[in-house]
Amino acid sequence: MATSPSANPSSVEPTSKGNKTILVAEHAGFCHGVKRAVENTLKLGDESDKKVYVIGKLIHNQQVIDQMGEKEIVTVSSLDEVPAGSICVVRTHGAPPEIVSQAEAKGVDVSDATCPDVRLVQNKAIQLAEEGYTVVVVGKEDHPEIVGITAHAGEVNGARIITINHPDDIKARLQGLPTRRIGVVSQTTQMEETFFQMVKELSKVAKELKVFNTICPATYFRQNAAAELASKVDFMVVIGGKMSSNTTHLADLCKTEGTQAIHVETYKELEGCQGLMDAKVVGVTAGASTPDWIIEEVIDYLKSL
Ligand code: SF4
Repeated sequence: MATSPSANPSSVEPTSKGNKTILVAEHAGFCHGVKRAVENTLKLGDESDKKVYVIGKLIHNQQVIDQMGEKEIVTVSSLDEVPAGSICVVRTHGAPPEIVSQAEAKGVDVSDATCPDVRLVQNKAIQLAEEGYTVVVVGKEDHPEIVGITAHAGEVNGARIITINHPDDIKARLQGLPTRRIGVVSQTTQMEETFFQMVKELSKVAKELKVFNTICPATYFRQNAAAELASKVDFMVVIGGKMSSNTTHLADLCKTEGTQAIHVETYKELEGCQGLMDAKVVGVTAGASTPDWIIEEVIDYLKSL
């Protein structure tokens, strides 16, 4: 099993203003995969004479999607909505491989913004399928990243791939499949604890278990920094899209630390929050798809209290 990367020594930058002390997590906001995808897509929109479409949300942050829309970068739900002669961007979460061939057959250029860490999971799942393992992907079945991973591995002849998001589902999901040799990968934004719990349960079923811990380093660092900060503050503000798995997990982790936490997309959702009003020390963290300007707006709001 690949080991988790080491977190940097934790440090937070305290800001004492008004009535509250505000502490910001050491790792918060845009990760390298999201930054790369957003910058490249905006550049494409500025420089290309072709119209740019993104199939599905480029990242799970509606405010960033709205900004791209203002620059006439259009988010669509399927390739059917992308006309010939334009460019379609594959989102950070990746996509099934047939999207690329279908786009090319239609006369649409493809710009692939799949995060390299997601590509790694796709490749590990393909490897496990080629080696004849029953492949278990730990994650949410309908999440676009998982849809892409299972589609890539599904191209291997005779591949057997299932998705599991809770240990209680293991038995039912493996029903009728060979379980002697099981290979495991994870959604990049999975909670470590959930992943390890799943591996432990699968080890009771399989004779041979091959595990790739494919939780990405950005997720690992954000989760650890959030948990550490949550243990030091009265209240946590977790900023990011409501559809963002990694942000949702950050909020869950803070609550696991026994700290009150609220998950917001913008500062406006903090208005009238009693737990926040009562707190003296407030921690701030943000998911990997949250831009700096939204984090800064939240901090400015907290300073005003
Ligand atoms: S959270 Fe991880 S996998 Fe997802 S885009 Fe960021 S670096 Fe890539």
